[in-house]
Amino acid sequence: MNASTSRPESLAAFWMPFTNNRDFKASPRLLVSASGVHYRDVDGNQILDGTAGLWCVPCGHAQPKIVAAVREMVGQLDFAPTFQMGHPAAFALAEKLMAYTNHRYGHVFYTNSGSEAVDTALKIALAYHKARGEASRTRFIGRERGYHGVGFGGISVGGIAANRKPYGTLLPGVDHLPHTHNLEKNAFTRGEPEYGAHLADELERIVALHDASTIAAVIVEPVAGSTGVLIPPKGYLKRLREICTKHGILLIFDEVITGFGRMTTPFASDYFDVEPDMMTTAKGLTNGTVPMGAVFTKSFVHDAFMDAPAGIELFHGYTYSGHPLACAASLATLEVFEEEKILDHAQGLQEYWVDAVFSLKGLPHVIDLRCIGLIAGIELASIPGKPGARAYGAFKKAFADGVLIRVTGDIIALSPPLVFEKAHIDELFGKLAKILKELD
Ligand code: PMP
Repeated sequence: MNASTSRPESLAAFWMPFTNNRDFKASPRLLVSASGVHYRDVDGNQILDGTAGLWCVPCGHAQPKIVAAVREMVGQLDFAPTFQMGHPAAFALAEKLMAYTNHRYGHVFYTNSGSEAVDTALKIALAYHKARGEASRTRFIGRERGYHGVGFGGISVGGIAANRKPYGTLLPGVDHLPHTHNLEKNAFTRGEPEYGAHLADELERIVALHDASTIAAVIVEPVAGSTGVLIPPKGYLKRLREICTKHGILLIFDEVITGFGRMTTPFASDYFDVEPDMMTTAKGLTNGTVPMGAVFTKSFVHDAFMDAPAGIELFHGYTYSGHPLACAASLATLEVFEEEKILDHAQGLQEYWVDAVFSLKGLPHVIDLRCIGLIAGIELASIPGKPGARAYGAFKKAFADGVLIRVTGDIIALSPPLVFEKAHIDELFGKLAKILKELD
């Protein structure tokens, strides 16, 4: 019996993350293999991956070059510390990543996840101001409906009540901008909505309340993914940038979802032409193969630490920062992006994707459709008194029908591998249309 392909004897011991454990264990969904844009489940059914795993497999599953690179590295260097020593792949990757940003960033700090990248960026922001003699800058500003992972920093700046409420007082000194979701004004917009740029001015109000000299950083997702694909109104991010610059506040874009091609550009900051001072990334960085996150910093952020007296510049890091397997996976991922022209392919699919999304307009329960890059949000009317139940029903039906979708509340979020073909889009939306028609 192969433990990785056969049904487990018991499901009891694994406390599953972000899962309704009791419901799942009554009717489990078990994936045993993946290739290209498909998963296979334990019963041998093929499942079309409409979500690139958890937004993290841009180049498709079991990409041969990436698999080979990880295999080779595990036999060569299974682990190496990066405290006071290093290994060549970690440095080679850092250089490649800087080139991937067109050298708009000067340095990269490795983590093992998006959550760790967020907490790292927040710590860098605090230490940066302190290193420059502005230790009073300790406050952070996040946004309602923002998701920044599950570390204490991330849930503090994040704006999802369910992720915050069970955990007490969290980080002090955090304010939240209002979210920009507005169904009355912006429903069924293709791309960036027209209404809402003025909401960035709330930042001025918060700055006036506390004084700029107390604020370290603002963190936002350029497109909020986990709370249902909330696309920034036209001009909103530029306005945030202007206000941060004016007040010496660092701007952090959390690009864990939007980085590495999801927007059909390398990063969302390229798409929107707005440059933050730091970017947090993960997911597509290794094509999901090996856990890894990374914080990209502008040179001026890094250099502030190099002016400090001799010694360790930043007291921060993880045992697995720059793990050799993660570096090998990421180097191979970047090569695949280049050789397979993944971004060109994604750009070529864009129009077809948007039309497919909007083919759902008018179907039962659909109260909004949103899309940008190769992302889509399909908002359904909630069943009164049962928020989230309708979309969860759609998710279960879709899995049974052989397509993987993701739901958050009553919103279906789609983010296929960037190597999808038009026929996959047809299959995904064909099945979704049928499910929506049959849904309670
Ligand atoms: N930030 C954003 C914007 C995310 O979407 C996620 C994960 N969905 C995270 C942070 C956390 O990443 P991880 O789950 O790898 O910790």
